[in-house]
Amino acid sequence: MPKLSIVVPCYNEQEALPLFYPAVEEVVQKISNLEIEYWLVDDGSADQTLEEMRKLHAMDPERVHYLTFSRNFGKESALYAGLEAATGDYVVVMDADLQDPPSFLPKMYSIIQTGEYDCVGTRRIDRTGEAKFKSFLSNKFYSVINRVSQNNIVPGARDYRMMTRQMVDAVLSMKEYSRFSKGIFSWVGFKTKYLEYKNVERVAGTTDWSTWKLFKYAMDGIADFSQAPLSLAVWLGTTSFVLSIIGLIFVIIRHFIEPANSAFGWSSMICIILLLGGLQLLCIGIVGRYIGRIYMQVKNRPIYIIKEKK
Ligand code: UDP
Ligand code: MG
Repeated sequence: MPKLSIVVPCYNEQEALPLFYPAVEEVVQKISNLEIEYWLVDDGSADQTLEEMRKLHAMDPERVHYLTFSRNFGKESALYAGLEAATGDYVVVMDADLQDPPSFLPKMYSIIQTGEYDCVGTRRIDRTGEAKFKSFLSNKFYSVINRVSQNNIVPGARDYRMMTRQMVDAVLSMKEYSRFSKGIFSWVGFKTKYLEYKNVERVAGTTDWSTWKLFKYAMDGIADFSQAPLSLAVWLGTTSFVLSIIGLIFVIIRHFIEPANSAFGWSSMICIILLLGGLQLLCIGIVGRYIGRIYMQVKNRPIYIIKEKK
């Protein structure tokens, strides 16, 4: 019998988790000829999430497994740990807050089972219940990253996806420290079918993602999957070099035509110095971001640390 692993990253989901499990069970029980295992990953929650996991495990120790981190490592690390622990022929990744509708599971499974696709993903086609500014930034992010990165990232794609063992192994083979899952799923390739749905709001609890945190996440994602910011430095340098040559020619010609006026323009000089100084700092900053990422990678720290696994 084929086996499906359900990987669920959880951070402070004490209210959502007790609702999540029965909602998923109700759906998966109806899929015939399929073995199910759960991997609940407690990402260092500060609330009773771990207790809820222990309760679920006690109810069904054969199928419900959990692991807990020594601290909060972030959703990407939780996903990775869950994928590593999963033993299924197929693995589905879903959020604990029921924003990823379990009702899709039978459909995802029937599509992936045909063997035509290696992955069945989901994407939101609207963003009801989300702040306008946040949606605006998200849309901009997708258009920017798709322009600067070779990997195509589908707008609104969620992490909610079912993958074959082959694709999961490919994802696991990417051991990078800074993990941007949307990029990683697209980088490994394989044939993905996207199911579309309208945004669903959380059943309980609050999201941990502020607009600022999302913005930083987006910037990291761009740095992880594109070297375009580095080319920006090259272009800025080239442009200011060409402009300075033009300026130089202008100054020399003026010196011969109007020798008396050849040394004026204090304010314009200050502006140019400030502009170039600013551009230089910007470029150093961009290079620095990449060096920081190299630094984190070469330290080769583990992506997560497990405290308890059952
Ligand atoms: N999550 C996690 N670690 C974190 C933050 C979030 O494991 O540091 C989990 C969270 O419990 C949820 C999923 O990641 O199951 C998505 O988080 P959230 O619902 O806050 O994000 P959103 O749905 O708004 O993208
Ligand atoms: Mg959510």
